[in-house]
Amino acid sequence: MFYDQAKIYVKGGDGGNGMVAFRREKYVPEGGPSGGDGGKGGNVIITTDPGLKTLVDFKYKRHYKADRGEHGQSKNCHGKSAGDLIIKVPLGTIVKDADTDEILADLVAEEQSYSVVKGGRGGRGNTRFTSAQNRVPTLAENGEPGEEKWVQLELKLLADVGLVGFPNAGKSTLIGRISAAKPKIGDYPFTTITPNLGVVSVGEGNSFVVADIPGLIEGAHTGVGLGHEFLRHVERTRLLLHIVDIAGTEGRDPVDDINIINSELQKYDERLAKRPQLLVANKIDVPGTEENIAKVQAAFPEQQLYAISAATGQGVDQLINEVAKLLETLVEEEPVIEEEEVRHVAFTDAPERFTIDVEDGVYIVSGKEIERHFAMTNFDNEASVRRFQNIIKVMGIEDALREAGAKEGDVVRIKDLEFDLID
Ligand code: GDP
Ligand code: MG
Repeated sequence: MFYDQAKIYVKGGDGGNGMVAFRREKYVPEGGPSGGDGGKGGNVIITTDPGLKTLVDFKYKRHYKADRGEHGQSKNCHGKSAGDLIIKVPLGTIVKDADTDEILADLVAEEQSYSVVKGGRGGRGNTRFTSAQNRVPTLAENGEPGEEKWVQLELKLLADVGLVGFPNAGKSTLIGRISAAKPKIGDYPFTTITPNLGVVSVGEGNSFVVADIPGLIEGAHTGVGLGHEFLRHVERTRLLLHIVDIAGTEGRDPVDDINIINSELQKYDERLAKRPQLLVANKIDVPGTEENIAKVQAAFPEQQLYAISAATGQGVDQLINEVAKLLETLVEEEPVIEEEEVRHVAFTDAPERFTIDVEDGVYIVSGKEIERHFAMTNFDNEASVRRFQNIIKVMGIEDALREAGAKEGDVVRIKDLEFDLID
């Protein structure tokens, strides 16, 4: 495949903090708790936009953070949840975890979306900690931090225009002349033939992708030479440029050449053979090509013949303008999505609760769940701190510490908090 790629950082919004508040009413000396919950942080969603063709926007903006939820208020007012942050990518974008290389999503359909990181939930206000034992709870939770991740975006470029023709007709030369950008071509495990790809710019913001289809006539329809992946890719082209060496440089007849290529196309894939096709007579800079041009035009009277020289550029601009105009009228074929291609991966909340490492006699507790509880604790609030101590006990961390050899008075660290182990 041909890849255009970008690495970006995404972070879900943090949840809003819960509030500690009490009702204050006339004639009610001691009102009950009334602190509202914080709002939920926004998710980051990656979604396809058929108007986009490249990942170039991501070269300039790499960090994407969703908004945090609003904090809870008094009078049991809950903070507002933040909206999701939408990142738009072209059709054909693969989303990978940049650390593990795992494919998270393969976005091939229009308006296909993938939630890449989740926003944190809002912290609970003190109202929610009311219980029979505690009618005046003085604690609230901080918001849960949003998930964060580095992801790799990779675009499988889908060619709009395919070039067909005999070897040495001038396909590579033409791509070299008209391409504004040469995307990096990824490893092609199936074949030693390297497909040649170019992005052609026509005016502002308008571009199309051209793929040279080398070796099509060298047995591609039998599956030799080109990989299945590549042929599938070429099937999605909307227009074919049939390049013929009008100078007959290798002693061949241009009319025969055109017929041979067309019958090979037919053998390979009837749908591909039915694609709209422009006949392009190349190498008109070679003296004496007028006769062949007339011959080809007479043999294919229903087709308009474009006479160009890929070497000198003669006639190339007119051809490109015509291609751009035609592409606007040719609708994109619905890609045939194979079942395995579409992957929906739910949020992966690894159940890793905590781990204990010992460094210079200090017991370091880490892990997603305990760090989440840590982030959601307001350490300025005594009641919250007591609750955190209780969580440590309930999660079995205290037992695990003793099992790991920690004794009375040893130092335990969680994130940037250090405390002594006591009974
Ligand atoms: P491909 O096999 O179809 O990709 O053909 P290439 O682009 O590699 O061209 C084959 C040969 O034809 C090369 O030697 C090119 O320099 C030459 N060639 C391509 N276009 C032209 C042209 O417009 N005029 C002339 N005189 N030679 C050309
Ligand atoms: Mg070539």
